[in-house]
Amino acid sequence: MRFKLNITRKRIIRLLKRTGIVIASLIVLFFLLSWIFPLPDKIDYSSILTDNKGEVINASLTSDDKWRMKTELDEISPLLRKTIIAKEDKYFYSHPGINVVAVGRAFFKNIFRWKRTSGASTITMQVARALEHRKRTFPNKVIEMFRAFQLELKYNKDEILQLYLNLVPYGGNIEGVKAAALLYFNKNPDHLSLAEITSLSIIPNRPSTLVIGRHNGRIVEERNRWLQKFADDKVFTEKEIDDALAEPLTATRHTVPHYAPHLFYKLSRQQKGEISTHLDLNTQLKTEKIVEDYIRAQRLRNIRNAAVIVVDNRTRRVITYVGSSSFSDTLDGGQVNGAAAIRQPGSTLKPLLYALCFDEGLLTPKTVVSDVPVNYEGYAPENYDQKFNGYVSIEYALEHSLNIPAVKSLSLLGQEKMIQQLIRCRFRQIEKDRKKLGLSMILGGCGTTLEELTGLFSAFANEGKFIKPSLSAADTMQSPIQLISPAADYMVNEILSKVNRPDFPLNWMATERMPKIAWKTGTSYGRRDAWSIGYNKNYTVGVWTGNFSGAGVPDLSGANIATPLLFRIFNTIDYNNDKEWFQQPADIDIRQVCSETGLPPSEHCTSITTDYFIPLISSTRTCNNWQEIMVRPDEKISYCKSCAPSTGYKKKWYKAVEPEMQSWFADNRIAYQQIPPHNPDCELIFKGNAPVIQFPANGVEYLINKKNPEPLQLICKTANDVSKVYWYINNKFYKTSAAGEKQFFIPDEGPVKISCTDDKGRNRNITIYVKMVNL
Ligand SMILES: [Zn+2]
Ligand SMILES: [Zn+2]
Repeated sequence: MRFKLNITRKRIIRLLKRTGIVIASLIVLFFLLSWIFPLPDKIDYSSILTDNKGEVINASLTSDDKWRMKTELDEISPLLRKTIIAKEDKYFYSHPGINVVAVGRAFFKNIFRWKRTSGASTITMQVARALEHRKRTFPNKVIEMFRAFQLELKYNKDEILQLYLNLVPYGGNIEGVKAAALLYFNKNPDHLSLAEITSLSIIPNRPSTLVIGRHNGRIVEERNRWLQKFADDKVFTEKEIDDALAEPLTATRHTVPHYAPHLFYKLSRQQKGEISTHLDLNTQLKTEKIVEDYIRAQRLRNIRNAAVIVVDNRTRRVITYVGSSSFSDTLDGGQVNGAAAIRQPGSTLKPLLYALCFDEGLLTPKTVVSDVPVNYEGYAPENYDQKFNGYVSIEYALEHSLNIPAVKSLSLLGQEKMIQQLIRCRFRQIEKDRKKLGLSMILGGCGTTLEELTGLFSAFANEGKFIKPSLSAADTMQSPIQLISPAADYMVNEILSKVNRPDFPLNWMATERMPKIAWKTGTSYGRRDAWSIGYNKNYTVGVWTGNFSGAGVPDLSGANIATPLLFRIFNTIDYNNDKEWFQQPADIDIRQVCSETGLPPSEHCTSITTDYFIPLISSTRTCNNWQEIMVRPDEKISYCKSCAPSTGYKKKWYKAVEPEMQSWFADNRIAYQQIPPHNPDCELIFKGNAPVIQFPANGVEYLINKKNPEPLQLICKTANDVSKVYWYINNKFYKTSAAGEKQFFIPDEGPVKISCTDDKGRNRNITIYVKMVNL
């Protein structure tokens, strides 16, 4: 007995060993084959654009011309999963890729025919078949099984189901349940009903004879047969089956939506697959319509394009993105994305400049500056209307978008500081050109995009905190940059929201219910670009109008063309505005100032007004607008301390007028009370401490290139007690400068008289001779 047993045991052990060797060899062979023939699972999906609700609003075909949209795991609803598994592969979650029982049954059924195999395909094997299209032969079935094992090893069950739902053909060039749900039912896969899922699930079996929209009757018959089967298998409740049986099938094939095309093309160059934007489709479509209608009406004036961006100020998300007036308009370059194009910004950067000056304590809204001709190293800016306004407040200068005060303020602030801030706000072209930019940048002599400008203005709506507006979920939200203080921001908001402005749209009807907004216009050189960017607590809306051809148009201006469009958009998207406006922040206060200078008044100031200021930051220098001067009783000669006679003079108050204003008053024949000329017998003048002009040299002839005139330097040497000098060219005031500072000017032909007066009233004249030549 024991002997016999021993033999049996030996046999069993030997058998086990052999089986083990066979299994081990099979496993080695499988891995070897897997290594040689890796899974062909690189799938090319359609790029799709979704809105803030996750709905597909645009898509493109794959490289093999299929609508194959990736269904994410969270889009596979429990209902969808349950239905597909009940119909295709009941044991999906328990088999290892192939259903051994079913394969065995199919094998015996087919073994004598050795041709087509039928049935027995698991979901995993169907995925294998979809990845590599092969004829249904027995050897190919073996390959499919091999692939099925590979799939099961590499992916979990949910991922395999996801692959199945992404690859299964639903007729025509539609592949995957997402494209099918969208193109037949206009919805996402997780919103499909039991009846809809069942209808879809029978298409792959006979895609050419069961076409949705054409054979709906036949599809319903087949659908109901399956629903009945589900009822028999008790997969769903009776109620669920009854509802599904009663559901009509009205589906037909739709076209893929093509909304927000510019944003789609922009983002699909950077990201593949699903691009989740924050677009609000309703606002997007309304805005597209307004822009298209508006530009159609502007065609007579030869203004053919526009771009609009709307940012939700609370989330900093772009909810509307319109790149041109009509994408399908090939004549005027409708495919060009005007929202991302680099254009000259006109005056739209001025609010940031003044806010930065407020924060540096250099200016307050009521600070008075002179709007008269100036010259910066040969650069002589002019105002938009080519007029000058004399004394103006910063508030007035910003409201009226005056150029001279802006150039003066930029020079005061330092251009580099302004550029730094713009680079922090990701102004790409300005960063590239930073070395090339001059003071003219504040009047639009630089390159910006509508995207950048709208982002900048949304900082004004958020207490000066900048966050680059997010275009899609792929944009990681950065932490906010405090660009300007809440106080400076508030000052700008107050100025830009005044309604009695010259750039208020002319034809704006008072009956329209316009929400309160702050806005700034801009018009570029040559009237090529018109901008208007507005904001309130809810939205920032950036509007650009112009021509993609770059052609200038006489009628084009920010106020006349861009602002009416801005107002129309605000009036539509922010119709039910709660009228909530920006609160005065804690770091701002109100003070009394002299209205003639905007500085805290001295006892002599007579006209007082109130102004915002930033405590401990804004300048506290008191107004010195009035000075007491000793004059001869006939007021024809003035004295200084050293030359005033002991008796026989009187004291009189005079308003201080800078030389550049004196010159402007004289040119415009504006009378003002002038300080009488200084006592000619004053020894200070005779002491000979007048400035010495070192360059140009007195009496010398200078040759200037006619075509490309080089500016001449002005340099003088002054006495030690001098801090400022005033230059005059041909008796006309030219420029104020610090003692010892170089200035430049381009002379006219002929004799040129150059005078330099110091701040003590001492003067020096020279004459040079200028000849224009072709060098
Ligand atoms: Zn004053
Ligand atoms: Zn004197």
